[in-house]
Amino acid sequence: MTTTLTRTRRLTGFQPTGHLHLGNLLGALRPLIAAQETTDSIAMIVDLHAMTVEHDPAALRAYVLEQATIMLAAGVDPARTPIVVQSQIREHTELHYLLECVAVHGEAARMIQFKEKSAAGGTVRLSLLTYPVLMAADILLYDTAEVPVGEDQTQHLELARTLATRFNARYGRTFTVPEGVRPEAGARIMDLADPQHKMGKSTVSGAGRIGLLDPPEVIRKAVARAATDTVGVVRRDAEHQPGVTNLIDILAACGGREPSDPTSYAALKRDVTDAIESLLAPIRARYAELAADPAHVREILARGAATVRPTAASTVRRTRAALGLLG
Ligand code: AMP
Repeated sequence: MTTTLTRTRRLTGFQPTGHLHLGNLLGALRPLIAAQETTDSIAMIVDLHAMTVEHDPAALRAYVLEQATIMLAAGVDPARTPIVVQSQIREHTELHYLLECVAVHGEAARMIQFKEKSAAGGTVRLSLLTYPVLMAADILLYDTAEVPVGEDQTQHLELARTLATRFNARYGRTFTVPEGVRPEAGARIMDLADPQHKMGKSTVSGAGRIGLLDPPEVIRKAVARAATDTVGVVRRDAEHQPGVTNLIDILAACGGREPSDPTSYAALKRDVTDAIESLLAPIRARYAELAADPAHVREILARGAATVRPTAASTVRRTRAALGLLG
């Protein structure tokens, strides 16, 4: 048996732009919790990223506290995995600027997410363009070795790697170059109403999303309304039966179970409803207890910030010195 002496530093970010949903739990939170034993993880609520689009200050504050509370309720152990609110560590914005002096305009402008979001029209905040550089700062600040990424974030991770490599080559070895990893046991959960797209916080209707704090009746209705097809066979076929495939995936991810009846969509939906409810009921109950004492949650966030701040400060000191700034 081999013993790992240094544990891998891993960073997982959550944007406080809405309520956490089943996709966040099965795709990111559960893998984070499962890896607590074997990695040196940081769970980060990236509130500065939530301000790259129009935002409501009161809602932002509420989402940050709600997400931190859900993380605790779901089993993130703050003694092993610091829960950190990005803006509470000033070094993020400092390193962001320093990295902007290493990045070039074209690198930010060609990001698919920027192109998509800015093509939607309306006001485009300058921070929407520069946010991948802030994300690079988030990662590089903590000597992060691994970043669990979904497909939509691979381009951003690539930028972080490019900037770290370029900086190290030009100014001397300063940053760890991070790797993107697919979280073990991480599932990609699709929208129940529109299974061609990922379940997300900001889909307009929200009909195909299951919030982690949704009451049982809301969950039951959302699953009952989930899009299926007319094939009539319960099997995985993402191309022709995306809705049914998604329901089977959710069932497996929630409890490792297989559908009870291979021919009945109604039975599949009952199985899925039960599995989700069994998973979420204890989280909801624990959330209610924790939410009754928000000061305690804030205290945990303050402790998380205090735990990671020395690393962040040391990285920024190194970066400033490498760039020729006075200490
Ligand atoms: P976000 O909701 O964009 O802040 O993402 C937070 C984390 O949840 C990231 O690690 C995402 O990859 C993950 N995530 C978000 N939506 C889903 C989904 N529908 N299925 C699986 N993972 C997801």
